[in-house]
Amino acid sequence: MFEKILIANRGEIALRIQRACREMGIKTVAVHSEADAEAKYVKLADESVCIGPAPSNLSYLNIPAIISAAEVTDSAAIHPGYGFLAENADFAERVEKSGFVFIGPRPETIRLMGDKVNAKNAMREAKVPCVPGSDGALPESPEEIKEIVRAIGYPVIIKASGGGGGRGMRVVHTEAALSNAVIVTRNEAQAAFGNPMLYAEKFMENPRHIEFQVLVDEHKNAIYLGERDCSVQRRNQKIIEEAPALDLNSRMRDKIGSRCVDACRRIGYRGVGTFEFLFENQEYYFIEMNTRLQVEHTITEAVTGIDLVQQQIRVAAGEKLNIRQKDIEPKGHAIECRINAEDPYKLTPSAGKITRYHAPGGPGIRVDSHVYHNYTVPPYYDSLIGKVIAYGENRDQAIARMRIALSEMVVEGIKTNIPLHLDLLHDAGFLRGGITIHYLEQLLAQHNKQG
Ligand code: ADP
Repeated sequence: MFEKILIANRGEIALRIQRACREMGIKTVAVHSEADAEAKYVKLADESVCIGPAPSNLSYLNIPAIISAAEVTDSAAIHPGYGFLAENADFAERVEKSGFVFIGPRPETIRLMGDKVNAKNAMREAKVPCVPGSDGALPESPEEIKEIVRAIGYPVIIKASGGGGGRGMRVVHTEAALSNAVIVTRNEAQAAFGNPMLYAEKFMENPRHIEFQVLVDEHKNAIYLGERDCSVQRRNQKIIEEAPALDLNSRMRDKIGSRCVDACRRIGYRGVGTFEFLFENQEYYFIEMNTRLQVEHTITEAVTGIDLVQQQIRVAAGEKLNIRQKDIEPKGHAIECRINAEDPYKLTPSAGKITRYHAPGGPGIRVDSHVYHNYTVPPYYDSLIGKVIAYGENRDQAIARMRIALSEMVVEGIKTNIPLHLDLLHDAGFLRGGITIHYLEQLLAQHNKQG
């Protein structure tokens, strides 16, 4: 096992990884920007290294600074967390070439799956059903694009092949709007992801977002750990996730889970990963794979009892999986609410000092957060300040526990989305379950119209 791991991330996930390492007796190195120098989790690490000024392109995305931090601290491996460099194949390659272990898949796999056009092709070959759309990248010619889109049928969604984080996609309802949408999305894709390649998909009107967690070792042992329903989204970004997903046909679930596992073997996958699907009328359609730990890994941990971060580290160290598919028997129900520093309805970020903080507790409640009383939320990064996870014997109990937890939770001095979560936890549609990915946007639109 590794003696020391460098954690190339910040915030709640840096703390989460640090805790996993400490439990395993592994020393940790926290790298941080100048803006995070005073954070408590940085002080809790065995060592810490400042890797640059606040803006992430100068610190958390600064590959040479991170590699030298690993060198000076004599780290054996680097955990990228999620976001930042977690799905950057060049980073993974640099890490390995510099003699460290990258805690994640091989660089080639990240490159393959990070390009969504290639990823969809690879999945089609593995017989994983995909959202209908263009076979491959869109050509340059507007006339040819029109023909391709006509064949798919409106509405379509134009997506950047290199996109991520809910960015780089645009819904198009009519042919009149198509050419302009392609130009704008292409420019955005070039600017944000350095890759102008686009593809088109049928825009699905009423799907749910359902994703499958996989875990794969270097020795071709691959398992899936059930699914998560992440349909509660705003701006194509998840805010509530739950496991298991309601009303799934278990035969279909096993079939899709097995296909995901087969696909992992075919592409030589290693580590933890997530296959994301849109799910409509009991059919699954692959949209993309995330080749990293997810924010919402916690709910899978709650229902399976498996520590995914520790498993991820073990697999990276070359260990054989000590869990078999037949050992996986999800039990109970778990819900995660992402707590964001933002206006609950307008969604504008709200950085600043937390003047009062109280974390909830009690049976079945887990809080993953790096913040505390008098902590200052810096304006430079993602607005996620923590996650509350409620576990119950069934969905009703998980929801009841989550309501209590969020009603106890105090975060003052900044705005958070706790009020929005509480609304949702009392909303008839959410309580019924099985809402689509467009549901929350509709609620927000109504709320903002009523003022
Ligand atoms: P990202 O990598 O940016 O997260 P995804 O491809 O995973 O992009 O899509 C993010 C979200 O966008 C999905 O969870 C879903 O809500 C919405 N979305 C993506 N593709 C489609 C589609 N074809 N039809 C309808 N909604 C979609």
